[in-house]
Parts: sequence; C-alpha cells; structure tokens
Amino acid sequence: MNLTNTPTDTMPDIQQAEHVLHEVFGFEEFRSLQKDIIQNVLQKQDTLAIMPTGGGKSLCYQIPALIFDGLTIVVSPLISLMKDQVDQLTAYGISASYLNSSLSPQVYQSTLDEIRRNKLDLLYLAPETLLKPNVLNLLSGLNVECVAIDEAHCISEWGHDFRPEYRQLSQVTDRFDHAVTLGLTATATPRVQKDIANTLGLADANTFVASFNRKNLYLDVVTKSNPLQQTINFLRRHEGDSGIIYCFSRKQVDQLTQDLNANGFNALPYHAGLGEGERTQNQNAFIRDEVDIIVATIAFGMGIDKPDVRFVVHHDMPKNIESYYQQIGRAGRDGLQSDCLFLFSYGDAGKIRYFIDQKTGDEQRVAEEHLQKLMDYVEAHQCRRIKLLGYFGEHFNEQNCGMCDFCTGDTPEREDITVPVQKFLSTMVRTEQRFGYNHILNVLLGSRRKAVLKFNHDKLSTHGIGKDLSRPEWKQIYRELMKQDIIVREFEHKSLKLTPKAMEILKGNQEVFGVIEEPVQKGRSTSSSKSDIESLDFNRELFGLLKEKRMELAQKQGVPPYIIFADTSLIEMAYYYPQAKESFLKIHGVGRAKAKKYGEDFLGVIKEFCENNDLNERSKSDTKKQTKSVQKTLSKDSRPFEVGQMFQGGKLIGEIASEIEVKEGTVVGYLSKFLKAGHSIPADHILEASGLSKEKWDGVFKAFEEHGHELLRPVFDALNEEIPYDELRIVQLYLMVKDGDQE
Ligand code: ADP
Ligand code: ZN
Repeated sequence: MNLTNTPTDTMPDIQQAEHVLHEVFGFEEFRSLQKDIIQNVLQKQDTLAIMPTGGGKSLCYQIPALIFDGLTIVVSPLISLMKDQVDQLTAYGISASYLNSSLSPQVYQSTLDEIRRNKLDLLYLAPETLLKPNVLNLLSGLNVECVAIDEAHCISEWGHDFRPEYRQLSQVTDRFDHAVTLGLTATATPRVQKDIANTLGLADANTFVASFNRKNLYLDVVTKSNPLQQTINFLRRHEGDSGIIYCFSRKQVDQLTQDLNANGFNALPYHAGLGEGERTQNQNAFIRDEVDIIVATIAFGMGIDKPDVRFVVHHDMPKNIESYYQQIGRAGRDGLQSDCLFLFSYGDAGKIRYFIDQKTGDEQRVAEEHLQKLMDYVEAHQCRRIKLLGYFGEHFNEQNCGMCDFCTGDTPEREDITVPVQKFLSTMVRTEQRFGYNHILNVLLGSRRKAVLKFNHDKLSTHGIGKDLSRPEWKQIYRELMKQDIIVREFEHKSLKLTPKAMEILKGNQEVFGVIEEPVQKGRSTSSSKSDIESLDFNRELFGLLKEKRMELAQKQGVPPYIIFADTSLIEMAYYYPQAKESFLKIHGVGRAKAKKYGEDFLGVIKEFCENNDLNERSKSDTKKQTKSVQKTLSKDSRPFEVGQMFQGGKLIGEIASEIEVKEGTVVGYLSKFLKAGHSIPADHILEASGLSKEKWDGVFKAFEEHGHELLRPVFDALNEEIPYDELRIVQLYLMVKDGDQE
C-alpha cells in the first residue's frame, strides 16, 4: 500500500519505517526499542518485544504491516479492544479489520470477503477465531507476512492470564511459511518472559526488554486518615481530568461513587455486581469522555486503551505489587504526567492479613510474601521506584527520580521520637499489654473515662504524661510503632504487644526516628520530568475550544475522542497556532490522512481564534522530515552501534543501561550484536556488570567450557538453573570477546 506521497520501495528498511512514522502517524521519532524491534521484524527475524504499558508496542507491528506487501495478522485476546484499534487505524487511513465472535454473520462474511480480495494490511483476530479450520485455511492460502501475538504472556501458565488457545498458536505460525512472528507483552515478570520466549521458540538475541520505569507517573503514598476527604482534595486538583479510583469491595465502590457525586464530581461505578449492559455502558462513557471518574474494583481496566487517563487512586490496598503496577500503569499512556495516589492504612493491611490467615500451606506462604513486598514498598524511606522496579528485578539507580513523594520532598521530616515512644511503650507494659491503642492514648492523655478508672489506670505513673502531644500526634506515633515493627496488634482482641525491638528502646539502648506531623498532601512536582510537549505554555482557551470540536466530531462518528486526536496533538495546536495545511502537518500526531480528514475542522477553529485574539502562527521546526540514511548491516545510528561506541568509550554496562533506559541484559544483547557485526570491544569491564561473586564465576566458566558458548540453555541446566540468564549472558559476552582476541 502507499499512504505517503513519496515512493518508498527503494529506501532501506528502517528509512522506510521512519518515513511511515512521520507521514502516516505524524510522530517525530521512535521511542526506546521501537526501532530495533521494527528493524528485526522487517528482516523477518522472529522477535519478542517486552515493553511496559504505553511503551508503544502497537507501532512495532503496524509499521511493518504497511511496509510488507502481504497481510499482517494480529492475535489479541481482548475482543473489546479490537474495534478500538481498528477505528484508530482507519482514522490514520490504514485498511484494517477484525474477526471475532462479536460480529454479526453478515459483517463476518463481508470481512472474510475483504480478506479474500487482499484488501487489508492488518487483520485482528481472537486466538480461537484463528484456530477455526475455515479461517486458518483461508489465511494459509494468502501471503501472510507477519503474525503479531499481542498480550503474549497469555501463553504462559505462570502468567496471571493464561489462555489455553494461546499454547496452540505456536503450531499455527508454522502454517505461514513467509511470516515473521512477533510476540508482544507488558509483563514485567522475568519468569513469564522466559516462558514466552521458550514456547514461541525465540532466540535470546531477538528478545528486546525495555525498562519498566514509567517516568511520567508521579507516585505518592499517603497515610489514610479520612479517605473521602483525602480523595476529594486530590480530585479538586484534577478537575476535568479522566481517572480511575480502585476500591476493595463492590459495596465501597457504590458508596464512594455516591459520595463523590454528592460532592459535585462526575463518577460512575464499575464492578462485577453490575449487569453486563451497565458495565459496558459505564466503560464506554469513560472512554468517550462523557464521565470523568470511574470508581472500580480491580475488575476494571483490562479492556481499555484510553491514552489520557490522568490519575489512578488506590482508595484501598491493592492485592500485591504486580496488581498495583498494572493498575497505575493505566494512567499516562500518552506520556504526559499523571498522578498515582495510594491511600495506605494498617487497618487495610490487617484485613488482607486476616484473609491470608484463612489460607494454608504454600498458598499462604506466597500470599504472605506478596503482602510483605507491598509493605516494603509502602514503608520505604527511599525513592519509590527503587522498591517498585526492584520487585521486577530492575535496578533503579538514579539519585532523584523527581516523580515520587520521597524525591520531591513531599514526605514529612523525620525526627527523634525516642522519648514519646518510651512513654507509649511503658504505658503498654504497665497495662500488661492487654489493651488497644485508644485505651493507651486515653491513659497517656490523662483521661478519666470509665474504662480508665475501672482498671485503676488513673493511678499509673504514666497517666497524663503524654499531654505535651495532641491525639492526632499520638496517632502518628502509634503508626510509626507499627510501621517499624516495634509493636504488633493482635488481630482478634486488638490488643497491642511489644516486640523484641521495643525492649531495647525501653532499656534506652536504641533511638527511634519518625514523623509526628500529620502528613499534608502537596501537589505533584511540576518539575524537570515534563515531556517536551508538556513544557509548552499553550493557550488553555483555545485548547478548550479544540476539545469541543474533537468531541463534536467524535460523537458524530461514534468513536472515542482520542481516536480523532490525542491531547498531545491539541496541546501543540494550541501553542503553534498552525493556519495552513503544511504547518498543520508538522503537528505531533497529524499524518496525511488525519490532516485531510480533520484539517479543515480544526484549522477553522484555530484561524477564527487567532483572528479574534490577534495571534500569529508560531513556526515549528520540521523534525518529522529528517529521515536519516542508513546501511543494511549495522547502521551508524542503530542502538547496537551507539551502545558499542559508548562501551568502547569507557562507559560501564550499568551506566549505559540507565542512560538509554533499558535493562542491563539488553545492553549486553546490543554488545553481542555489535561484536557479531565485526566490531571489537575491550573485555576488561564486562564482568563488572555481573552480580555474581568471583567464586561463582569459576563454576560458570567451567560450564561454558564444557557446553560451548553458543547456546545458553545447556549451561543454564548444567548449573542447576541457579544462575539467571542475564548473568549467563554477561559471561557469554566476556568469553566471546576473549575468544575473538585469541583468533
Ligand atoms: P502499548 O501497546 O505498549 O501499551 P501503545 O502502542 O498503545 O502502547 O502506545 C501508547 C501511546 O503512545 C499511543 O497513544 C501511541 O500513539 C503513542 N506512541 C507510540 N509510539 C510513539 C512514538 N514513537 N512517538 C509518539 N507517540 C507514540
Ligand atoms: Zn523517586
């Protein structure tokens, strides 16, 4: 197909891909790893792409689909998303369709006809549809050039979302002789990643793993004190924004939805207790910007692709870090700053613990581990990203992320609280550790309530010694004691007990630091981490008018507004004030087809606004047209080349990984490619990237000596699966370099 004005057949692969990126999609440049993945696919090498949500996986098959002569099949389990994806592609002027069980027999037949007549570049299919003999036979007779398997983690039994049909896909791909297979997933779990590669038979060298750091998400954990008020305060800073609030139970969802609407917000509920019709209706209202807020149980989110979700609130505790990461990941797909607020309470943790106590054996152990990891995250006195990414095996070593409560200093000052803590603990000792925290506070504050007098606790030496602090301040001290494992609360009777740590403090052997002041909620940082587009000081009034125009067109066409233009495009329009088609084409996200379809409408709004306000067009330099020339083998602007040069220049693997935002394993992969392309690198610093001890190296070297260093699997097995692949890859690279030196 030819969607652009320039003949592209004679260009090298990657240059064609860049041309399509500019002309069809209207984007300036590729994001991290997109280029490598696309290049690999264009060279028909089976590839696995692992990128977080919002990383830009779709372009990795959509662009090759436009360059290949034949058909690209996209297998996706999310039926609800197929129509959305096809609508998006159609808006870009691309011919795409889908087949799944939601279609009427007539539409299904006419789509089959389209396929037969080779009318399509992309065809989306549910796995079970692809496995139908008639569909499979039809497709086998056509020139299928790429099979993209979206949500590829569904292939793994270790994943949270295993689908048996996915297992059969690996046999199906064999039916298409000329097709390259591309697996795509956002799963951050190394075990699942490995499993996908193995099942699809993909080589390590063709696996690309992006960093899981979502830079544009502001992470904030706040102690839950008055959740409704805290939520309302947060929402006031987000007026008109789209966002999701997660609650523990259906009942809470209904209650909070009611409370928010009573307070003038515009919210709808979503949970499994609602009928399917109502759920779909509420989800659509959200996608189409007809309602701002969805209050949901965790059931919400899988089937949506909305790029401009500006916030996610955890009103209650999520199940584990993985679900938390997945849920906050629904915010900010468009790359603009988005706010994630987690209201945390020990009460919620206690509830989860109570459920864990009902379980037994392995299940109980695993659940406990999960809870502990989440507590580590919540209680961390360091950048939130260290624990969050650490959970997925990624090492985050930036000094200051600038996008979490800790790094922006939104966490209150910690001070020496040893003395009040001693008062609290000795009151517990004197009341024989038989009471809950309200009673202890009453004694400390010198209360003469019935319960205090009944036990003669007004006679204790600690009665009234806590009057120097207020009740909320004592509550904070109590939270610190729980947080730092100095006391524990018995679940059944709610009485407080001392831990061994408490004894040391009472004896005066150990000091305690903590926060007394009630945490105040501050705004998220508006600092350095903004994207280029966000730092534009755009005209809010015009932006509002453009949004109205977008809504009008969306409703007329029955599609979500973001399919017409993303916010990022409207922001640029409201900054550069383009007045002519040529300057309109330079706007982010404006390709040829969209310019033709919507240009007149939007330019009309802009021109009228500029006339009325005496404004002139600003010129935007034309970054989209700077397609560089590249060689087929290892071009000078390819990642492996760039990385190879950085390494030759003396940078360490870890440094390179954080600079270009990929995992260390990926850097090692680039270096192998660089090496295989005939360049040389020094062996000296390779092993520094290894986390293994020197003693372990010896064993690993020996295993490589025995099994050769071409394949990792035999070595992995020989070492009893104890040494992770990433480590093996480092040693493998080292040996490759060493071998090369001897030749
Ligand atoms: P994923 O499938 O990985 O969650 P998507 O493919 O949906 O991510 O992409 C997320 C958003 O980023 C989309 O709105 C997409 O248009 C946009 N996007 C992808 N690649 C680029 C790029 N190179 N430049 C600008 N925007 C991009
Ligand atoms: Zn941080």
